[in-house]
Amino acid sequence: MEDRFGRRITYLRLSVTELCNLRCRYCMPDDGVCKKRHEDMLTEEEMIAAVEAAASLGISKVRITGGEPLVKKNIVSICRRTAAVEGIREVCLTTNGTLLPALAAPLRQAGVTRVNISLDTLDEEKYTYITRRGTLQQALDGIRAALDAGFEKVKINTVLIGGFNDDEILSLADLTRSLPVDVRFIELMPMYDSGDFSASAFRSCDMVLQALPEAEPARSDGGVARLYHLPGALGNIGLIRPISEHFCAACNRLRLTADGKLKPCLHSGDEYSIKGLSKEQMAEQMRAAILAKPQWHEPLSYCTRSRAHRDMNQIGG
Ligand code: SAM
Ligand code: SF4
Repeated sequence: MEDRFGRRITYLRLSVTELCNLRCRYCMPDDGVCKKRHEDMLTEEEMIAAVEAAASLGISKVRITGGEPLVKKNIVSICRRTAAVEGIREVCLTTNGTLLPALAAPLRQAGVTRVNISLDTLDEEKYTYITRRGTLQQALDGIRAALDAGFEKVKINTVLIGGFNDDEILSLADLTRSLPVDVRFIELMPMYDSGDFSASAFRSCDMVLQALPEAEPARSDGGVARLYHLPGALGNIGLIRPISEHFCAACNRLRLTADGKLKPCLHSGDEYSIKGLSKEQMAEQMRAAILAKPQWHEPLSYCTRSRAHRDMNQIGG
């Protein structure tokens, strides 16, 4: 279905949980999220009904995210059933990777085609600092497991943080030479309560290009990242610039939170609830949410923070 500005909405980002086994400092407070009542969260049946409703409106790609989707006990079943919905051609997953060693193969068999794995540093101490409880080895084992499981594409997501990992651009980019992965640098977004980093931590993705003068522009894969390629590399470098260059004109997304709220735009406070509705009623709410998509969100900066009123773990990054 098209929105009011002629954009075809073909992509649903489905958050299956707000919970996570890590506590990344830009995403979640140390004591985690305030756990909501079980009965307020979408059930597996409701998630699948929502995917069916979305498919009836022309959505063909679903990204499963969270929180950390792999802490959800029924994640393999959710992915298998999502992939089986008529009209859904692609099921992707965004994860911190730490639980992939046990789950990569079952997820691949369930029909997940692509995985994005978050990795902000290649330094053990810094990894444990930024995630507050993970180990670098767990994340690296997860990347290895994803490659071994034969996903069509494995991408690494790195949030660029001044004073933390802006000295690691070369080593992170080098992963595209040693592994068949894309490495995407994402500008840090000023979300609701992600208070550990102030304006001084923001770095534009221009910094990545300055650090990699040999990077050549590469053909877009249709996503929001601008792609570059290092000579001889196996994968691409991607730049995702929500702050320095917002990509609203090409937005094809609808988001559904784990507590059943449709979000027409990541950075708006508008929400449409589908909790407890029939599939037909869900499709009506989706239609309303798509028609309510703004043409663009206000430019973000550390002075004009996101109006989402939620952190990324509660929206589905
Ligand atoms: N737990 C999974 C993971 O870490 O990949 C999926 C959910 S996480 C919220 C999705 C993505 O959002 C991650 O790549 C994370 O780095 C990114 N993210 C979270 N908070 C962010 C922020 N304030 N600015 C930019 N990216 C952020
Ligand atoms: Fe968890 Fe992902 Fe947020 Fe990190 S970015 S705290 S792994 S949800």
